Amino acid sequence: MVIYLQTFMELELGSGCKVSLSCSFWWKDMVKIGSFSSCDPIVENCRFSVHNGFNTPFWESIWLDGKPLKEEFPDIFEKSRLKKVSVASMGGWKEERWLWGDLGIREDMLEDDVFGAMYGALKGRLEEFGGWKEEKDSVEWIGRTSADKVFTVASCYDFYMRLRIPFGPYNKSDEAFGLLWKTEVPFKIKAFGWRLFCNRLPTKDLLLSRGMSIPFDSLNCILCGNCEETMKHFFFSCSVVKKVWEEVALWVGKGETNDNDCMSNFLDWYCFFRLKKVKEGKLGVVWLATSWTLWILRNGVCFQEDKWSVNDIVWNIKSLVWKWMFCGKITHSNFSFYDFIKEPLFFLS
Ligand SMILES: [Zn+2]
Repeated sequence: MVIYLQTFMELELGSGCKVSLSCSFWWKDMVKIGSFSSCDPIVENCRFSVHNGFNTPFWESIWLDGKPLKEEFPDIFEKSRLKKVSVASMGGWKEERWLWGDLGIREDMLEDDVFGAMYGALKGRLEEFGGWKEEKDSVEWIGRTSADKVFTVASCYDFYMRLRIPFGPYNKSDEAFGLLWKTEVPFKIKAFGWRLFCNRLPTKDLLLSRGMSIPFDSLNCILCGNCEETMKHFFFSCSVVKKVWEEVALWVGKGETNDNDCMSNFLDWYCFFRLKKVKEGKLGVVWLATSWTLWILRNGVCFQEDKWSVNDIVWNIKSLVWKWMFCGKITHSNFSFYDFIKEPLFFLS
C-alpha cells in the first residue's frame, strides 16, 4: 500500500498536531508517535519545497538548506516569539514582492552584536530564497533512499524500527528465529530448523516423555551408543556429531564451537559467515545442511538400519550446501562441485 505525501500535507504538522477524522488509522498512530517527542521524526525526514509557504513549518522542517532552521540558528529560534508557525507566517507580499518580517525577534535583542550578526545571516539566507509559487507546498520523503521519493508505510516502519531502542535483555530467540526465516533453503528445512530451535523434533527422550513405549536398550543415541538420545546430545554433544561439526568447520575455515545450546550454536555459525561476507540469505545454509543431514541419517539408521561413516555424512552435507546454494540458479557455471569443495566461501560470498 502506498500513501502519497499529498495525504501528509493534509495534516497539521508538529507536536500537538491534529489529524483529520477521515485519515487512516496508520496515520493516526504514526503522528501520535511523533507527538511524544519534542521533535517530530516524520517532519525531520521530509524535505519541503516551499511554494506558497502555508504548509511548511518554518523552524522545524528541512526546506531552506539541509537542516531545520531551529538547528542551524538555535539561539534565534530560542528567542523568537513566533514558534510553530509556517513559512508564510514569517512575512507577507507587498507590491508583488515578498518581505520577511522580524521572525519574532524584538528590536532590542539585536543590540547584542553576536546575536545581531546571526540574525543578519539568517535574514540574508532567507532573502536569497526564490521558490515562491501560487501552488501548495510539496514534500519529499527522505527517510529512505528512494528514486521516486514516495512515502510508503513500509519505509516509515523501517525508519521507526531503526529508531527503536530495545528494552530488556538481549533476546537470542528473536534473533535466531528471524535469521532462520531469512535463510534461502526449502521451506521444509526452515520448518525443521524451527522445530529444532523449539526442541520439538521426535527424539527418543521426547517420545518416551509422551508415553511412547521404547525398549530401554533402544533409548541410546544411534551414533555413539553411550548416551540417551536428546536433542542436545544428538545434535551437539555426541562425540560422533562433534567430529562431524569439526570436519564441516575445518572445511569452511571456522574455529571450534563448543556451544551445546541450539540457538547459540546457530548464531555462532551465523556470525562467522557474516564476518566472512557471505551473502545474507546464505548465512545459515551450512548450519541447516549439517543439522538436516544428521537428522535424515538418524532416521535412516533407526528405521532402515542404514550404514554410515563420518566421512559420508560430511560429503552429504557438502553436496546439500551445493544444491541449496544455487536454488536452481547456477551463477558460476564454469565451476564444478569439486571447485566448490575446495573454496566454499568463494561461492557463498
Ligand atoms: Zn551420541
